[in-house]
Amino acid sequence: TSSLADADPAVFAGVQHEVAREKKQIELIASENIVSKAVLEAQGSVFTNKYAEGYPGKRYYQGCAPSDEVEQLAIDRAKQLFGCGFANVQPHSGAQANGAVMLALTKPGDTIMGLSLDAGGHLTHGARAAMSGKWFNAVQYGVTADTHLIDYDAVEAMAKEHKPKLIITGGSAYPRHIDFARFRKIADEVGALFMVDMAHFAGLVAGGVHPTPFGHADIVTTTTHKTLRGPRGGMVMTDDEAIAKKINSAVFPGLQGGPLMHVIAAKAVAFGEALTPEFKAYAAAVVENAKVLAATLKARGAEVVSGGTDTHLALIDLTPLKVTGRDADEALERAGITCNKNGIPFDPLPPVKTSGIRVGSPAGTTRGFGTEEFKEIGNMIADVLDGLSKNGEQGDAQVEMAVRARVEALCDRFPIYPEL
Ligand code: PLP
Repeated sequence: TSSLADADPAVFAGVQHEVAREKKQIELIASENIVSKAVLEAQGSVFTNKYAEGYPGKRYYQGCAPSDEVEQLAIDRAKQLFGCGFANVQPHSGAQANGAVMLALTKPGDTIMGLSLDAGGHLTHGARAAMSGKWFNAVQYGVTADTHLIDYDAVEAMAKEHKPKLIITGGSAYPRHIDFARFRKIADEVGALFMVDMAHFAGLVAGGVHPTPFGHADIVTTTTHKTLRGPRGGMVMTDDEAIAKKINSAVFPGLQGGPLMHVIAAKAVAFGEALTPEFKAYAAAVVENAKVLAATLKARGAEVVSGGTDTHLALIDLTPLKVTGRDADEALERAGITCNKNGIPFDPLPPVKTSGIRVGSPAGTTRGFGTEEFKEIGNMIADVLDGLSKNGEQGDAQVEMAVRARVEALCDRFPIYPEL
């Protein structure tokens, strides 16, 4: 029984289309996941009605006792999950979390340093099109041409030359562990603050299958909706009390107004889930599955950027197959497999085309796919890519239809949201 169906059939139809899409396709977008019914319920709760400007115990509105309850739960669970001293759970998104750090610790015109977009970095780390690139003197480091790993020597030289106020690492398409200790050393050498944006791999840190940035970074930001498997949102953490105070002022009233209490309630639920032994097993499976997917695609003739993955994602270089990222992600969508085209390091093709695709295991692992299924997914992807190799951008319609049937059969074996 849905009141939305009666009240607004047009929007209800859109929601139903999305439910059907999620059920019937294989989700490989590395930044997406499939949240629990409990997370959905908290986010769909009456907390959406509440204004609670301020922080637990210090609000600017009346009627905030229930808001205090859930926000304190979210804060305490986040601190326990990552073993840190402070968490601000109010940023509306990852971009907002990073913006709050810059507002707290830097001034427009300061020099900041981040991983460049084409090497797997994020817009908010100083890309020219973003506020971080427009309002700051942003210098960007990259990866080496042979290993595709962060060029730490170049980072050190760049830091010494530009003396940044803030050094940022982390990214959206970097498949390998990052040497946080080396970054700490470089930051100390030049007197910079060091921030890790663990948006992509936070769930792996929480699950204990990825090195933690705590103990190295002055400040850690994340999104809550990727490997961490919560509602869409952001968070800022630190062990430094002086920085913590500045972050609270920067998030509110610096950057945002009222916190999204329904989202914060859902964050609390997700952090509670991430504290369970089941989540540890999930995180381990995410990494194992990504490795199998990358190895399968490599065996079928694609290149894997950096040779493999340590995380939940792999960046696949389609150059040896003579296929572009754009043709690949469109053909794969026709076949029921969703991913995104992605530039590879030193990509000769423009961002609207690209030489690669980014694939990730978080959502598939949530629905129960294991290594057998990810091997099958790798082979299905390769079948579709072979069609593009042979026929150009229109691909092989028959192969795509056959793959689509196999995708739907696989999805039926691992159903999601049976009640929806
Ligand atoms: N930081 C990193 C490393 C990301 O990958 C992303 C999202 O893709 C963000 C920040 C921004 O998060 P949001 O989309 O929630 O603003």
